[in-house]
Amino acid sequence: MQLPKSEKLFAQAQQYIPGGVNSPVRSFRSVGGTPPFIARGQGCRVWDVDGHEYIDYLGSWGPLVLGHAHPAVVAALQKAAADGTSFGAPVEQEVELARRICQALPSVEQVRLVNSGTEACMSAIRLARAFTKRNKIIKFSGCYHGHADGLLVKAGSGALTHGVPTSAGVPASYASETLVADYNDLPSVERLFAAHPRDIAGIIVEPVAGNMGVVPPVEGFLPALRRLTSQHGALLIFDEVITGFRLGYGGAQGLFNIKPDITCLGKIIGGGLPVGAYGGRADIMQQVAPLGPMYQAGTLSGNPLAVSAGLACLTELQRPGIYQRLESLAQRLAVGLNRAFAEAEVPCTLNRAGSMLTGFFHPGPVQTLAQVEASDVARYNRYFHAMLERGVYLAPSQFEAGFVSLAHTEADIDRTVALAAAALQAVG
Ligand SMILES: *Cc1c(COP(=O)(O)O)cnc(C)c1O
Repeated sequence: MQLPKSEKLFAQAQQYIPGGVNSPVRSFRSVGGTPPFIARGQGCRVWDVDGHEYIDYLGSWGPLVLGHAHPAVVAALQKAAADGTSFGAPVEQEVELARRICQALPSVEQVRLVNSGTEACMSAIRLARAFTKRNKIIKFSGCYHGHADGLLVKAGSGALTHGVPTSAGVPASYASETLVADYNDLPSVERLFAAHPRDIAGIIVEPVAGNMGVVPPVEGFLPALRRLTSQHGALLIFDEVITGFRLGYGGAQGLFNIKPDITCLGKIIGGGLPVGAYGGRADIMQQVAPLGPMYQAGTLSGNPLAVSAGLACLTELQRPGIYQRLESLAQRLAVGLNRAFAEAEVPCTLNRAGSMLTGFFHPGPVQTLAQVEASDVARYNRYFHAMLERGVYLAPSQFEAGFVSLAHTEADIDRTVALAAAALQAVG
């Protein structure tokens, strides 16, 4: 594929920005090649600076459930921008977004808005520690909760893709407060509680893992985490930064009918602008400053632009039949891709939860990080490039989720499936 403008920009970018990107996963390190620089997006499509058109399944890594440049989001942003972009003082829209979040998630009685999923998770951990007066937390290998120090231990997403399970610059003394269990492996959690019965502040988990590729929880896993944390006086933190407002208006917790103590949100609630949030039971949230002793703040938190975009997005998602529509599109894609893989006789396991999905080049099942890591990455990389050349933008790593949006149509899905069949034929 000819990418003269992108190549030129990428060369410049590498001079001024480490690796040429502002988030490592964008660099194509895992799949190789030059990342196309994107000029614009509309609906389910993006165009690069060299004029290539792609059907987009990256969706900005999750936020764009409505697709690119949705008219309601654009209009909300234009109106908000004209009224001033930031005040550092309360605005009406942030109250409305908080109210909508609390109404959507019964486990959330109060919520604090921040600027990213990283901030949400980092603050949720601090809050769990403040509330329980304990230090240790449990996370799962392969789950990603942003890049805060204590959470970059056996992390997923870019940390997994790039083979840096623990980042440099994180003190071992600090990382030692993070205990690591295996996703979908309850005994690995029970062993940690047995070894540290009164020291564990909480468990943080992606209720459907999305940062090692999509790995849904096995039957009974989430209820067992709820039971264990309650038994031991620890808090259960659901990191719903991807799943919130994606797996349903009530998120994964609504789908699986589990009430976590604290929920982390991000991505969709900002409608494509930088927002995060953490919320939970009122008695827990009242630990947060100015009410309580746990400090957390933000110059741009509750920013009127971001909050307006988020509100416009949630309003669209409240329309009747929206999640059924998303489900039927994603199911159509999954059925089509499974058929294409079978016809090409390529062993592939398609894991899907609602509109998030990953095709692992692995005969399956894929329920654990070990199984995820046994995927044929070289084949994924060939497939990725074959799809990109044909005009389909997938996540540039085997270990990431793909996202179907409401802007995809049946025709887009069917075209994607046909292109996948052609790509598999070309590269095997
Ligand atoms: C993306 C993500 C984060 C981090 O959010 P940022 O906005 O990138 O900081 C945290 N948790 C999960 C599950 C995510 O997918």
